[in-house]
Amino acid sequence: MDLLERLQEVDILTVARDLGLEVNAYHKMCCPFHEEDTPSLVFYPATNSFYCFGCGKTGNNVTLYSEVNKLAVGEAIRQLAFRYLPDAGSKPRRPVRRINPDLPQIKRLGDTKPDRHEEVHSVIYESFRDYCLQQPSNELSQQALDYLKERGFSEKTVRDFRLFSIKNYPEASWHLKNRFSTLDLQASGLFNEKNNLIFFKHPLIIPYHRDGRIVYLQGRVLEQPPEGFHKYMFLAGKPVTLFNHDLLKHLKLGTRVYVTEGAFDAMTLVQAGHAAVSLGSANVFKREWAKLFQRCEVCFYLDNDTTGHRAAEELGEIFHQLGITTTHQWKTPPPGYKDVNAYWQARGGVQGELF
Ligand SMILES: [Zn+2]
Repeated sequence: MDLLERLQEVDILTVARDLGLEVNAYHKMCCPFHEEDTPSLVFYPATNSFYCFGCGKTGNNVTLYSEVNKLAVGEAIRQLAFRYLPDAGSKPRRPVRRINPDLPQIKRLGDTKPDRHEEVHSVIYESFRDYCLQQPSNELSQQALDYLKERGFSEKTVRDFRLFSIKNYPEASWHLKNRFSTLDLQASGLFNEKNNLIFFKHPLIIPYHRDGRIVYLQGRVLEQPPEGFHKYMFLAGKPVTLFNHDLLKHLKLGTRVYVTEGAFDAMTLVQAGHAAVSLGSANVFKREWAKLFQRCEVCFYLDNDTTGHRAAEELGEIFHQLGITTTHQWKTPPPGYKDVNAYWQARGGVQGELF
């Protein structure tokens, strides 16, 4: 067994407590990687890992130790070996110190490499999709298709974006509970703390893909949302990611790309023959996404409301700082239309005159 394998067996809760972090009886603590008052970082002793439901930060004992102490991984490994595997003869290069959890928040949240958790989550989402797709069509699935048609989407668009619907909620929920652990289902965001599938009122599912894998799911109601529900449901505690991400990998240099708020707006523009991605929400943009747009000419096409207008200015500024071309920086639908899709619908789906 090599040093890394031995280190992986060092109890992550012990490492956390030795770091001075306050872990409660439910193996939860306030996350040191984002600001919060109630604990949303959970330790999983069975896999010796952690996951934060607030910011999505995840990793093992080495990740925790290196990030909290702001150390390079190599040095973190040396220090951990020095502390927990005294016979390994490893000597750290820097003095090993305790840290105080009340120190200023750690701002470095850069590591986005897919890890075991991301992989497990994709497997869960895909199992959910496959199960839903193989359930026999019924009134609900027909209603979902009618709804999409009403929004102006062709069958091809619905197929290309691989939208699906939950035809039988209890069966879909049961299928997942049978196949995956409660902890993994909850960490994936697909199940809530009460262990219920979150899309109870949201049978139309919009998958977000990355490199062909599903990395995020969003649900939508088919009619007006019932009292107390929003028309969209996002995964519990999972950061939203780019919709239509893979499009950016295959663009010719200088192609104009529209950046919209909603997935349906991006779908509308793609159906009309444009390149478009969506942010999922106007106030979420990760700097690391900006480099994906480096080969394109970006045009923000955000909602016709104050949030949309403000977001367009802020996003324009971020892109400007990063040296990415944003000519005609932003557009909104004409007055009286809330978003791109609403404008499209009002025009009866006529191609061309979208702008
Ligand atoms: Zn966090």
